[in-house]
Amino acid sequence: MTTLHNYPYPLNLSEIQRELGLSKPTISKTIKLLSSKKLINTIKQKKEKKLTLTLKGTKIIEKVQKINNLFAKIIEETSNEQIYYFLFQLINNLYSKGFVSLINMCKNCYFFEEKEKEFYCNFLKRKLEPKDLKIFCMDWKKKE
Ligand code: SF4
Repeated sequence: MTTLHNYPYPLNLSEIQRELGLSKPTISKTIKLLSSKKLINTIKQKKEKKLTLTLKGTKIIEKVQKINNLFAKIIEETSNEQIYYFLFQLINNLYSKGFVSLINMCKNCYFFEEKEKEFYCNFLKRKLEPKDLKIFCMDWKKKE
């Protein structure tokens, strides 16, 4: 859909295949699915079948591009430390909701302590800065 949106003219199956480097059966299957959801149209141009986005498809791609730009801006303006802490919290949330299995990370470690938004490791016997929080730690011990 992004390929169709980015080209100034409608594309045929071979052009889409060349652009994406995918097999014709994969593209045909995807086109069938997108057509059934009324996201793309097939039109005839000079006796050739070409594909374009429908208005519904265009609106979706424009929303996706806005979200992509927003993420790119956030990543550009955010320090690696903040991104790491965000990922750490995200993995911890996924773990606590059962989406990922047990991970040897600080938040679920026997030695981990959190007091007034400060982190402490009772194994290393020191305070942990957000950048020190581990997603996989060799010294991790399961909480009893
Ligand atoms: S032992 Fe490792 S996983 Fe456990 S709290 Fe300390 S640094 Fe975190």
